[in-house]
Amino acid sequence: MAEPETAKNPLQVAVVGAGPSGFYATEALIKSGRAVRIDMIERLPAPFGLVRNGVAPDHPKLKQAIGVYQKIAQNPEFNFIGNVTVGRDVTAAELRGTHDAVIYTCGSETDRKLGVAGEDLPGSHTATELVGWYNGHPDYRDRSFDFSHETAVIIGQGNVAADAARILAKSPDELKNTDIAAHALEALAESRIREIHVVGRRGPAQAKFTSKELREFLSIGNCDAVVDAAELELNPQSEREIADKAGAMGKKNLELFRQMTAGGGKPRVCRFTFLKSPLHLEGAARLERVVFAENSLSGDAFEQAARPTGETFALECGLLFRSIGYRGVAIEGVPFDEKRGVFPNDAGRMIENAGSAEKGGVVRGVYTAGWIKRGPSGIIGTNRACAVETVGALLDDWPDLRAPDAAPKPGAAKLYEMLDGRGVRHINYAQWQAIDAAEIKRGEPKQKPREKFTRVEEMLAAAGA
Ligand code: NAP
Repeated sequence: MAEPETAKNPLQVAVVGAGPSGFYATEALIKSGRAVRIDMIERLPAPFGLVRNGVAPDHPKLKQAIGVYQKIAQNPEFNFIGNVTVGRDVTAAELRGTHDAVIYTCGSETDRKLGVAGEDLPGSHTATELVGWYNGHPDYRDRSFDFSHETAVIIGQGNVAADAARILAKSPDELKNTDIAAHALEALAESRIREIHVVGRRGPAQAKFTSKELREFLSIGNCDAVVDAAELELNPQSEREIADKAGAMGKKNLELFRQMTAGGGKPRVCRFTFLKSPLHLEGAARLERVVFAENSLSGDAFEQAARPTGETFALECGLLFRSIGYRGVAIEGVPFDEKRGVFPNDAGRMIENAGSAEKGGVVRGVYTAGWIKRGPSGIIGTNRACAVETVGALLDDWPDLRAPDAAPKPGAAKLYEMLDGRGVRHINYAQWQAIDAAEIKRGEPKQKPREKFTRVEEMLAAAGA
């Protein structure tokens, strides 16, 4: 057996991805009381993942989770290595050589595809692009959206669709004191959008919005939320769903939709529409309209699927956002489940070739947590329980993580040597704090919580890297 870990010889764990699940995994490792050292590797110079880059700017309360992560980062066992991409700057195999265990917490970075003709016409975008753009994510800094059209369509009825619709619906006055990126505020101030259609393939009882998010549409200063009353009639299975405890959210949502049946004359209208699936997007050089199949629901309560009735419906629009769920991105050298877009795992232990006929065994010392482990669902806090489960598996495996008589793993020392040799400009937590302080200072004259840097070079300059 290898030497048990000691304060001088801690178990070296690399956590890949500095979002909520990365921080919750770190917290669980530290709370275990074992001698551990955690190197959190993040591809951007800024930590906090979806809380920084995904949570809508007008939802500052949700961003309070960052305070928890900042506390976790103060632990002496924690080390942040920003601006390093695993799979590019360092390989997955190299990390296995430098650390006793690796936990992948890299989230779901891309979108699911609709798979319909015209999906990629100019004017058709993913909600991920819009969300990244208004949140100042460097990957989306140079995206542009044509807000000169009067009608925008959002496909999907989850909370990401709600965020996108709200940001399109609000006036600049409602957004100007948030941490929305300056370039987005400027472009949205010129928006000529009057109608936003948020379209679901199933019915109002099946919409995935949480009621708290849906309720916000009743109080947007600039925009009426409208639903056609006829669309709120339910089939018997949907009635059964909302009568059941498990359908409580659907029931609340329905009550909210019923309050949206009369417009109030505000300059913008957000229309929630149901039972329509996009068949194709049309336009000569760019998006001009989307053609939907009208659906009806079939199946038992809670298992109802949308089936086309044969009728179609066309909606003229110049701008469309697909918001039908996220998907994980593969990293070379790490098993990937192509079908589900997640890292295959058994309660957080990475497994080889899930979904293939040759399903393999556990990959020793490699773990996963968060959306890349279980798929893109749940609220920020859901990732805590998910990370605790993964770290529980790692703690159970602890005696096997070092081969008998193996020398201690070199951890960050070797990693830094490799990164420096490759000219990678990695940044540490103090440098991130310098970026953070500079962003807050930039926000002060505008009464914004911060004005984010939206380019990696700007961040590195602020970090003094
Ligand atoms: P989501 O909640 O899974 O919603 C996806 C939507 O896309 C559903 O309406 C789904 O309809 C629809 N859809 C999927 N495939 C489709 C297709 N081929 N054609 C038409 N529609 C399709 O995903 P999300 O909105 O991306 O959110 C991801 C997670 O983040 C969720 O857990 C969400 O609650 C969370 N989140 C939370 C907040 C917040 O707390 N404020 C903010 C943003 C996100 P079906 O139901 O028919 O599949």
